[in-house]
Amino acid sequence: MRTTAFHLVTRKETPQDAEIISHQLMIRSGMIRKLGAGLYTWAPLGLRVLQKVEQIIREEMNAAGALEMLMPAVQPKELWEETGRIDDFGGQLLAIHDRAERDYFFGPTHEEVITDFVRNEINSYKQLPINFYQIQTKFRDEIRPRFGVMRSREFIMKDAYSFHLDQQSLEVTYEAMKQAYTKIINRIGLEFRCVLADSGAIGGSGSQEFHVIADSGEDAIMYSDTGTYAANLEKCAAVSLLDNRAEATEAINKVATPTQKTIEEVAEFLKLRKNQMIKTLLVAGTEQPVALVVRGDHSLNEVKAVNLESVASPLRMLNDEEIKDLAGCEAGFIGVKDLACQIIVDRTVANMSDFTCGANENGYHLSGVNWDRDASYHAVEDLRDAEVGDPSPDGTGTLQVARGIEVGHIFQLGSKYSKAMNAVILNEQGKSQAMEMGCYGMGVTRMVAAAIEQNHDDKGIIWPANIAPFAVAILPMNYQKSERVRRAADDLYEQLLSMGIEVILDDRKVRPGFMMSDFELLGIPHQVIIGDRALDEGEVEYRDRRDMASTRVNHDTIIQFLT
Ligand code: ATP
Ligand code: MG
Ligand code: MG
Ligand code: MG
Repeated sequence: MRTTAFHLVTRKETPQDAEIISHQLMIRSGMIRKLGAGLYTWAPLGLRVLQKVEQIIREEMNAAGALEMLMPAVQPKELWEETGRIDDFGGQLLAIHDRAERDYFFGPTHEEVITDFVRNEINSYKQLPINFYQIQTKFRDEIRPRFGVMRSREFIMKDAYSFHLDQQSLEVTYEAMKQAYTKIINRIGLEFRCVLADSGAIGGSGSQEFHVIADSGEDAIMYSDTGTYAANLEKCAAVSLLDNRAEATEAINKVATPTQKTIEEVAEFLKLRKNQMIKTLLVAGTEQPVALVVRGDHSLNEVKAVNLESVASPLRMLNDEEIKDLAGCEAGFIGVKDLACQIIVDRTVANMSDFTCGANENGYHLSGVNWDRDASYHAVEDLRDAEVGDPSPDGTGTLQVARGIEVGHIFQLGSKYSKAMNAVILNEQGKSQAMEMGCYGMGVTRMVAAAIEQNHDDKGIIWPANIAPFAVAILPMNYQKSERVRRAADDLYEQLLSMGIEVILDDRKVRPGFMMSDFELLGIPHQVIIGDRALDEGEVEYRDRRDMASTRVNHDTIIQFLT
C-alpha cells in the first residue's frame, strides 16, 4: 500500500471524551471515528487490525471444531418473552418495531435465536455435541458508553453456543473453548488471565472470563503468581444507583433499619426512575431477603422479588479512599461494570449463595459477586479477607492483584434456555430430554482496544506483530526529489509485496519529522528509513518500533534482515 493511495488521516489533538490511551490513539491514528454515542466507524486502517483479530479467532474456533454461521442481528421480541430475559437485560435492549408495529430487539446476545434454530434443527442425541459460532454486530444500550470501542453500544462479538446430551459433554467443549481462547489471545500477543466470574444476565451454573491485563481495566482481578488461580473481584451485585452519596446513605439506612420495609416502601422512598428496579436476593438456606436497587440494565442472575424483612446488621457505606481503591471511580461513586453507583456492603451476608459482597478490614479490596454456584462463589468466599501476598486459595502461590479488561467470557448454561424454549432431543433410550448448553463470547472490537492498552508508549501504538495493520513501513526521506531514494524505496516495496509481506510505503510529500511521528503513532513494527545520506554509505536505517532502536543495515541485505 502506498500512503497516497490509502486513507491516512492522523490527528495531533486528543479528543476531549477520550479518557483512556487506546481511545486516544485510535482516534489520533485515524483507526476509528465517532458517529454518535457509542457508535464508531472503522476506517480502513482500523479495519485491517480488526480483520486480523477476527481471522485469528475464526481459525482457532474452526480448529476447535466450532461451526461458523450467521444469525440475524434483529430478533423478534417473542423469543425473549419465552426466556423471560427482557427484565434481566432491561435498558440495554434496543427495542425497534417494523411498519406492522411488530416488536423486535437489536440483539445484545443470541442465546434465544440459536436455541430457536437448534430446537428446529436438532432432535436426536446423534446430532450432538455441536458448537455453532458467529462473528457479528451486537447492540447494547450501555448506560455509559465510553472508552471508544472498549465500551461502545454497537460492537462486534464472536459468540459461540454449544449443545449437548449431558453435563459431561458440555464440560469437554467448555474446556476446548477455554483452550481456544487461550490460543487466540496468545496469538494476538497479549498478557491475560482467565478468571472465575459472575454469570450475569446470561445465566447458567458457572463461568470464566478472560482478562487482558491493563491499568485502565474496569475490573479488578486477583490471581496466584503461579498462574493456576484467578478470580474477578469486582462483580458487585449490591448496588444502589443514586445520584449522590447523601441520598445513598439515607437509602441504605432506611433499608437497614430493623423495622420491616416492603419493596414498595423502599421503592417509593427511592422514587425509582425509568429503567430502575428494586430486586431482592435470598440468603441461601435462611431465605433472608436483602434489598437491592439496580438499574434495569444491570444483569442479575436468578433474583427473586420477595418482601423485605429486617436486615440483620447495618449496611455500610464505603469511604472515599476505599472507593478510589476499587475501580476507576468518579467522585463518591464507584464505576462497577457499566454502572456509576454506590456500593452497599453488608458483611453479614457472607453465607448467601445468591449474593456475597464485602470489603476486607483495611478496605483494600472489595470482593463482591452475584454468583450463585460453587466455583465462583467459593472464589469470592476464599478471597473475602485476602490481601496481596497471601497464599492463594488453591495453595499454589501467592495472591497478586491486577486490573483487567474483559475480552472473553465463557459459560456453562446447563438447560436454562433449552428448558425455557423447549429445545429437546430424544436420548439413547428414546426419551425426550432438554439439551445442555454452553456459550462463549469474545469482544472482537474490544480486543483491538485492549491490545493498544497493553502495547503503546508516549509516541503511539506498538502493534503486536500478528495484528499490525502493516508489518513494514518504508519511510523515504525526500521521495519526491531524490531519484535514488525513490528507486530504493520502490524496489524494496515491490520486493516485499512480491514476498507477500504487508508493507506500506509513505510516498506523501511531507516533512521527514512529520512522517516519522505519523508512523510512530501508527505503530508499524518494522520501519525502514531510506535517505540519501545512508545510501551514500550503501546503507538504510532499520527501526524497531518497540524499543525504537535504530540499526544501519547494508542496503543489499535489508530484505534478509527483515525476513
Ligand atoms: P462488560 O462486563 O464489560 O459489560 P459483559 O459481561 O456485559 O461485558 P458479555 O455478555 O460477557 O459482556 O459479552 C461477551 C463479550 O463481549 C465481553 O467479554 C466483552 O469482550 C464484549 N462486550 C460486552 N459489552 C461490550 C461493549 N459494550 N463494547 C464492546 N465489547 C463488549
Ligand atoms: Mg455488560
Ligand atoms: Mg462482564
Ligand atoms: Mg461477561
